[in-house]
Order: sequence, then structure tokens, then C-alpha cells
Amino acid sequence: MGSPTAPRAVVLAGGVGGARFAAGLIQVLPPEQVTVIVNVGDDFTHFGLHISPDLDTVCYTLAGRENPATGWGRADETWHALETVAELGGPTWFRLGDRDLGLHLERTRRLQAGEPLSAVTRAVCRAWGVRATVLPVTDDPVPTVVDTEEHGRLAFQDYFVRLRSRPRVRGFAFQGVERARPAPGVLEALAAAEAVLVAPSNPWVSIDPLLAVPGVRDALASKTVVAVSPLIGGRAVKGPAAKMFAELGIEPSALAVAQHYAGLIQGLVVDESDAALAPRITATTGQAVFITDAWMPTPERRRALAQATWDFAQALRLARSLD
Ligand code: GDP
Ligand code: CA
Repeated sequence: MGSPTAPRAVVLAGGVGGARFAAGLIQVLPPEQVTVIVNVGDDFTHFGLHISPDLDTVCYTLAGRENPATGWGRADETWHALETVAELGGPTWFRLGDRDLGLHLERTRRLQAGEPLSAVTRAVCRAWGVRATVLPVTDDPVPTVVDTEEHGRLAFQDYFVRLRSRPRVRGFAFQGVERARPAPGVLEALAAAEAVLVAPSNPWVSIDPLLAVPGVRDALASKTVVAVSPLIGGRAVKGPAAKMFAELGIEPSALAVAQHYAGLIQGLVVDESDAALAPRITATTGQAVFITDAWMPTPERRRALAQATWDFAQALRLARSLD
């Protein structure tokens, strides 16, 4: 038993899938022992404000302030500011509620005053009583660019929100990532963790950009790493993950997720409906497979999935230590 505040688990997370899984894990472990490392490839500037959609979803969810209907944005939201923008003929394709805007205003002010994103995130979490550690993977800008058949290269939010993920993808780039440095605390948390849990986030645009930050993938090499499949029955619970696999010529399935993470993870958690894929996953990747209910519509089921994933990771860690 280490100290109660030593990080035991690191979660790699995008937005909604990552946030829900992390919310489950802080019901399983003391939140102080959980570090959530979050994708910032979705970040962009809008109305002059710095917006970090995945960090915000994680922080809102861990603070119990999220909108449960959408998974993103805040509960009890109003839209007066955006209504004014609409009256004036401004852009309203990116939904920004009034409460949400308050965060973007204050974060932008602090960034302009020279604070790094990780420090601003820490202050936000402290103010809202989030006891887990939430870290942007990097303080440097690493905007995701989506290469599409119809429109060529698109900024991520243009693709994802304005065009509703409709264009066919050909590939992704994470601009500037080769020069990005992990944010303070990222490599330390990975070094200290007993296990790293890859949340059921989008592999292409939530987890890959995070792994592309120099040093992160190397820090995982000696770790027990387990992922949860974001695909259930070949479909994404939400968002374009399955569509992206298909457009890149890969049949979307838990097997495709396993192969995507080959060499990175030792175990994959898949939904009961995908149990038949387990032998092929293990045969083609060597990964252990844990079969459970991987859908998280309620807090209880988030907790159950996080508990199962944590126990699975601990079992794999023990087995590795005995080898
Ligand atoms: P985004 O940044 O908000 O798009 O969120 P993420 O990348 O973190 O999560 C999106 C992924 O979460 C999608 O591919 C979904 O299939 C997956 N997801 C959402 N809810 C669930 C769930 O209840 N169970 C599982 N296994 N995956 C989920
Ligand atoms: Ca995202």
C-alpha cells in the first residue's frame, strides 16, 4: 500500500467516453489515486476564446456538472449569449452555453496572462472540488487535422461539429506534435502508475493524438496497459469511430480496436456481444480479453466497467510480475 495520494491508475481519455469511464474509476479508487491524461487535439480558438472540448467534458463530468443528455457541455445551461450572436448574424454552429462560456473566458484570460493550460486546468478542478488529477497531455498546441475526400484537410471542429463528421476521412495529422512536450506531471504519473487504462475513447482522434506526444508512448512500454473497446457490436456508442475505421478500409469491430492498439496494450475489455471475437483478438495480437458489459448508460454501470477493467489490469500486472 502506497500513500493514499500516490497515483495508482492513469486513464488516457478523450471527451465523452473518457469522461464517463473516469467517472466510474473514481468510484472504484480514491480519486486522489487517479490521474486522467486528456487529449487536446480538439482544442481551438473561437470568438478569440481558447476552447478545450475534451478537457472540459472530463472536468465537468468529474465535477458532476455535465449535461447528462449530451455528455458534453454543462447541466442547467442557458444560451443567451449565443442567441445574441445569432441575432447579429454570427456563427452558431459550435454550441457554447452561458455557463460554459464563463470557463472559456476565464481560461483564455489566464492563458493570455502566461499560465500554461495544465495550471489553468488544475485551478479549475480545485475550484470545483475535483479530487482526481486532470492533465492535458501537453501544454503545447497540437491541433488535429482531418484529411477528407470531399474537402481535403479540415480543422478538427470543422469536420466534427460544423460538418457533423459527414465527410469521408482519409487520415489524420496532429500539427506540431513532434515538437510538443508532455505537460508537467504527465510522465511522472505514468511512471508511478500501477496500470494505465485506455478509456473507450475514439482511437483515431482522441487516443492517437495523445500517444503522439513525444515521450508518452515510450512511458507506456514498461507498463501494464489495458484498453476498453469503444466499439460494441461493430458500432460506436456515439460519434464517428466506427465510420472512421470503415472509411480507412478496416472493418469496425473490437478486433479492429485490438489491432489498432497492438504492441501498446496487453489486455482489451470488450462487450459481451463481442465475446465471439476474443479468440481472434488473442491469436492475432496476443492480448488477453476480458468480456463484460461495456456500455455505461448509468453511474452504476460506469463503476462496474471501471471496476472490471481495474481488476483485469491488476491480474495482468500480477501475471507479468510472475513471468
Ligand atoms: P469525444 O472526444 O467526446 O468524442 O469522446 P471520446 O473520444 O472520449 O469518446 C468517444 C467514444 O466513446 C466513441 O467511440 C464511443 O463509442 C465511446 N463510448 C461512449 N459511450 C460509451 C460506453 O458507454 N461504452 C463504451 N464501450 N464506449 C463508449
Ligand atoms: Ca474529443
